[in-house]
Amino acid sequence: MSAFPEVRPRRLRRTAALRQLIGQPVPSLGKMIWPVFIVGGENQKIEIHSMLGQFRMSADELCRAVAPLATQGLGGLMLFGVLDEKLKDVAGSAAFAADGLVQRTVKKLKAEFPQLPVFTDVCLCGYTNHGHCGPLKNGTVDNDAALPILGKIALSHAAAGADGVAPSAMMDGQVAAIRQALEVNGFHDTILMSYSTKFASALYGPFREAAESSPQCGDRKAYQLPPDQLQQALRESQIDEAEGADILMVKPATFYLDVISKVRKQSQLPLAAYNVSGEYAMLHALAKSGGGDLTALARENLIAIQRAGADILITYWANQYDQIFK
Ligand SMILES: [Zn+2]
Repeated sequence: MSAFPEVRPRRLRRTAALRQLIGQPVPSLGKMIWPVFIVGGENQKIEIHSMLGQFRMSADELCRAVAPLATQGLGGLMLFGVLDEKLKDVAGSAAFAADGLVQRTVKKLKAEFPQLPVFTDVCLCGYTNHGHCGPLKNGTVDNDAALPILGKIALSHAAAGADGVAPSAMMDGQVAAIRQALEVNGFHDTILMSYSTKFASALYGPFREAAESSPQCGDRKAYQLPPDQLQQALRESQIDEAEGADILMVKPATFYLDVISKVRKQSQLPLAAYNVSGEYAMLHALAKSGGGDLTALARENLIAIQRAGADILITYWANQYDQIFK
């Protein structure tokens, strides 16, 4: 028999226990990396208005927030430094200072939570006074001049004890340059998680408020991927794999589930998907307007990203895991 009335797919959905039995496991906290925004000082915990439930935290507050998550098996952290405006300069030199904000925070985190994987964002845009991801030449970012600087930033994070570095500048050749800098300096075990397929998305708005990293002039369209260029998107991940990336990434996630699925098929490397600030804020906005239940929305969103093929979910929902997957 292969048709109704003998065939009734609804048989398998009749009860919650049956649905669970048939379904896939929900994403676990161990598969999630929580992106966090770090500020200097002590006892600083400032809510980010455009990203409810997320905070800019000083290192001590971050450790307090991380402690219960680390006990529950959080997959990792991704650190973004939010630098005081007066510490920014044209070269972004605070990005690679041995005792810089991110470097100090990595040391503290690894001392308190030695088992918790700590990744760092490697870029210049949060450290330059012009807000671009590399040095400017004639008003545009100088790709090749950015490479040794990105190498220096990655090295300083590795020296502080970061398990992995994640270059997000979208400069051509950045993965090879960072890999070489790490090798030459003996950091053979530092993981390189590349933002290999990063789109010039309209979904980064709340992040830019959180990290205070909007370009002062122009935009990043000349180095990030146009949303309609699928072949270029797939190629970028292949190039980063060839340059020595250990983990690939698609960013954003929800509008690019097809890209996640395709990158997953073309590579054997672990694949991360960055569930970005706009995706997060969008669900909050819908829930706030009475249009949906926040935890149900978050749950469906995270399941979708995992279903598309992401092995690692970089998501702001990580610190609310208990409420979402209770
Ligand atoms: Zn950047």
